[in-house]
Amino acid sequence: MDSADAVVIGAGVVGLAIARELALAGREVIILEAENAIGTATSSRNSEVIHAGIYYPRGSAKARTCVEGRSLLYRYCAGRGIPHIRCGKLIVATSEAQLGELESIRNKAHANGVTDVVWLSKEDAHAMEPAVSCVGALHSPSTGVVDSHAYMLGLLGDAEAHGAMLAFLSPLQSARVRSDGRIELHVGGAESMHLAARTVVNAAGLTAPSLARRIEGYPADKAPPEFYAKGNYYSLIGKSPFSRLVYPVPEPGGLGVHVTIDLGGQARFGPDVEWIDRIGYDVDPRRADKFYAAIRRYWPQLPDGALAPGYAGIRPKIAGPNDPAPDFLVQGPAEHGVAGLVNLFGIESPGLTASLALARDVARRLH
Ligand SMILES: Cc1cc2nc3c(=O)[nH]c(=O)nc-3n(C[C@H](O)[C@H](O)[C@H](O)COP(=O)(O)OP(=O)(O)OC[C@H]3O[C@@H](n4cnc5c(N)ncnc54)[C@H](O)[C@@H]3O)c2cc1C
Repeated sequence: MDSADAVVIGAGVVGLAIARELALAGREVIILEAENAIGTATSSRNSEVIHAGIYYPRGSAKARTCVEGRSLLYRYCAGRGIPHIRCGKLIVATSEAQLGELESIRNKAHANGVTDVVWLSKEDAHAMEPAVSCVGALHSPSTGVVDSHAYMLGLLGDAEAHGAMLAFLSPLQSARVRSDGRIELHVGGAESMHLAARTVVNAAGLTAPSLARRIEGYPADKAPPEFYAKGNYYSLIGKSPFSRLVYPVPEPGGLGVHVTIDLGGQARFGPDVEWIDRIGYDVDPRRADKFYAAIRRYWPQLPDGALAPGYAGIRPKIAGPNDPAPDFLVQGPAEHGVAGLVNLFGIESPGLTASLALARDVARRLH
């Protein structure tokens, strides 16, 4: 049987950031990826926003890793020439009743150390983004956008330069904790094999909880339930009237149908929240009506026929639609008792922003 020092399951942005962190620390790393390319799941189906760390409860893993990850990410992008922009964002209240929500968002931001978030009057918001209609807004200057694929290639390049190996079409099927403390992995694919690893990091995204339950010797009751909340996007046909990101106040399950711009200046709207039972990425064109209605609350001039169905991503939820919003759940040996195993569950937004901070967390747990 082949043996390995550290194996990372999943070549999404989080798995790649962890592989890089471990490789830089001198570990011999193998990345197992079920698909034939990096980042084909959630990591290429998101808004590519570098979040400031505004919304999350004080002291939560989301707040901490977002704020730390954001500054690590800006530094990384600047150092490695990864395309990104620090364009800033507005969060807009479209009725007097929403001003109280803006106030509580600002308080949360300040509690999280994001103290550059400021109030804007209706007039100031209009001066910044003339197309936006609102009664007041918050401005977050440290929010930005990153080319997520270039970022993932950068992470992979660093990991490989430090000896990491990536195996495509290599799905982990099951595993078992051996009496010598190693974790034996059964890897499927054209040439299925067994591999004994000292360290295993489960960064399998949407299916991380069910994969953990297939590790014999891991206490299955420690794995959270698995839910999927799809986020659909629509693209704007034509030129964007916005130069910053524009968000409504958040809705249950997501941040509300917001405008993001890509690095080419093209605008897209989304994601909405659609709870689903099975993984599938089709965008139902019948959802367009809801998008027009949501967007026109803050951009009344949106012309008819200006939206085209775009793409969809799926949030790896570990709590259902009627439960409180869950935090990231990173479990190391101290939490589940299996030496050398770390599971990452529920790494939804702001996982892209937080990726470098999550990677540091994982490395710490393995020490
Ligand atoms: C709609 C939406 C919008 C978002 N917007 C933002 C945003 O603007 N900013 C932000 O910071 N975050 C955002 N996020 C969150 C961010 O995209 C995720 O947190 C991040 O991509 C998660 O990365 P990951 O590596 O954990 O998972 P994934 O990207 O899902 O990667 C997991 C990988 O594991 C592989 N895999 C699965 N099972 C196995 C197996 N058994 N064996 C081997 N490989 C396996 C998969 O093929 C996949 O490549 C958004 C998420 C969604 C859904």
